[in-house]
Amino acid sequence: MPPAVDRLTLGPLATNCYVARSGGASAEAVVIDPSGTAEEIRTALAVVGARCVAILVTHGHFDHVTALADLAEQTRAPVHAPAAERALLEHPERFTPPGINVRPCVPEVLLEGGERLVVAGIELDVLSVPGHSPGHVAYWRESDRVLIVGDVMNGMNLITTIPGLHEPPKPFTPDPARNRESIRKVAALRPELVCFGHGPPFRDPDKLARFADQLPA
Ligand SMILES: [Zn+2]
Repeated sequence: MPPAVDRLTLGPLATNCYVARSGGASAEAVVIDPSGTAEEIRTALAVVGARCVAILVTHGHFDHVTALADLAEQTRAPVHAPAAERALLEHPERFTPPGINVRPCVPEVLLEGGERLVVAGIELDVLSVPGHSPGHVAYWRESDRVLIVGDVMNGMNLITTIPGLHEPPKPFTPDPARNRESIRKVAALRPELVCFGHGPPFRDPDKLARFADQLPA
């Protein structure tokens, strides 16, 4: 059965949080990149009649984890996060703009890339895709070629919100060359559905391949 993936767009930077279930009738869900607030995410879980059994993080930038500590506490779901993003999660005050409060969270499961997770009945491969942040990972379900890509690419212009493929903004991407390698890596998988951290879903593997090909080295 194909997984049901619901997208919530939350918080001041319109960051996508995904609620994935193995099918529309499944009572278990995985929450990926808990942006916004835990209340908003728990409301969405209640609407589909599912409980959160695992939380996955693509990278530790504050807008992707504003609800992380609260959701983990309230659901007791284990947090899976890249090992190299751990400092951002455990000491968010060092990395968060003034006026935004992110509570620290200690992840239970540390990821390097290369793992295969089975969470809420969904098989996901963990891909190491650094560049936008040092430990960035993507989650890939090969059976139906669904890719949860975080901020390796943006699916819209972040200023105008017009949909389209873009590299993530340079000021927030410490290693753009390495990130382009990561874009080429995920484009080569030819995903049928790309779920971005920002922007609407994208379903055109040929266009993604052309986008990756025209990037500078
Ligand atoms: Zn980011």
